[in-house]
Amino acid sequence: MKISVAGTGYVGLVTAVCLAEKGNIVTCLDIDMGKIALMQKGFSPIFEPKLEELMQKNRDNIVYTSDYIMAYRDADVIIIGVGTPEKKDGSANLKYVFEVAKQIAETVERDCIVIVKSTVPVGTNDKVEQIIKENRKCKVNIEVVSNPEFLSQGTAVQDTLNATRIVLGVESQKAESILKQMYSQFEIPFVITDRRSAEMIKYAANDFLALKISYINEMANLCEIVGANIEDVAKGMGMDPRIGDRFLNAGIGYGGSCFPKDTKALHWLASFNDYELKTVKAAIEVNENQKIKLIKKSKKYFDSFKGLNIAVLGLTFKPGTDDLRDAPSLVNIPLLIEDGANVKAWDPVGMDNFRKIYPDEIKYCNSIEETLIDTDICFIFTEWPEIKNFKLEKFTRLMKNPLVLDGRNCYSLDEAEKRGLIYESIGRRKVF
Ligand code: NAD
Repeated sequence: MKISVAGTGYVGLVTAVCLAEKGNIVTCLDIDMGKIALMQKGFSPIFEPKLEELMQKNRDNIVYTSDYIMAYRDADVIIIGVGTPEKKDGSANLKYVFEVAKQIAETVERDCIVIVKSTVPVGTNDKVEQIIKENRKCKVNIEVVSNPEFLSQGTAVQDTLNATRIVLGVESQKAESILKQMYSQFEIPFVITDRRSAEMIKYAANDFLALKISYINEMANLCEIVGANIEDVAKGMGMDPRIGDRFLNAGIGYGGSCFPKDTKALHWLASFNDYELKTVKAAIEVNENQKIKLIKKSKKYFDSFKGLNIAVLGLTFKPGTDDLRDAPSLVNIPLLIEDGANVKAWDPVGMDNFRKIYPDEIKYCNSIEETLIDTDICFIFTEWPEIKNFKLEKFTRLMKNPLVLDGRNCYSLDEAEKRGLIYESIGRRKVF
């Protein structure tokens, strides 16, 4: 089976490499020549555990190119994994997906299956099929299948090779059997449905997870007001198998390339159809407020950040990724800078990407220690293991004033107190 993948981001590249690992020959296509040049040399353009190792192991089965004619012309299967970012009004921007559909229509010379793996609103697969049918140069038969992706950044390879399910939204038995053949080596259960339901499954699943995070964050906020401890509350909730213990860590909200945009896109789609999605709307609002919770807490200590030396630990939206999209750091750091703070920051893999947005406004440090020296406040935005395992006495030793505002509940309240920190976290209180 000749498989081509359009887009070599977190989804496209990981999918391609995992399909190669299972014995397929895969062509990876991207419009970003820089990425292609890097991958041709055997390097991954993104930080994702195990990815580069598998790229190198399977180098004989993967071709990297920016030539879409070569990629699409004689493919059996074309997987669309390009981005679907948020538009100003909250809806999904489908221009990259439709661009690929047009390029496929122009070039494809034999029957093939087009898989839409990008997260797209209900009805998009129909449009992709229509674009291909209306623009195709050769009288070939093309079927479009919805096959949404559920991987998490940071564990993307693992998630793809051991996914909990493969959702296939198909409109014919032929398409179903080709897709089942492509995934035959994966031994993962299939959920077979129609295209619109498959598109909806992806949004419904992501928005449910976002809702779960916003729910626990609201509970944490209430815990602070009424004097309860969110960690015990979450533990007591999570032991109920109907609830489950994942996504119950209170903090400064979700970020990343999916939850923020997918909640807004589904809310937009509902509004467009004259339906108000109240739960998802609440999840979005809670998250927006939660992101600046530490700044609000800091007002207890300082009216303004003007002239203060501030340490920031963690820039990425979560540990295990170099991705900054919608990370809380991107909301908070500009507020600190605008208010006149001198900001120093450290992140194990996110600094290069952050530097592209803020090249000179903050000082990038080589270690946590260097970041903390002589600072008045330390903000923690990402729970990297290096931060969680950092010796607490070093905060007291290195900072001018050991005020630590922790948005990810990295340390125990007891330990923080014992080591002399002035420590604020989310939704917790010391009981005894
Ligand atoms: P990304 O931004 O990391 O990668 C998209 C890639 O597509 C880029 O490299 C871009 O250059 C390339 N591209 C754009 N137009 C192209 C074209 N015409 N031909 C070839 N390549 C083109 O995006 P991502 O994070 O991998 O997300 C892709 C899709 O998958 C989105 O819809 C997203 O919502 C969804 N998704 C993402 C994740 C995740 O964790 N990142 C998880 C599940 C689903």
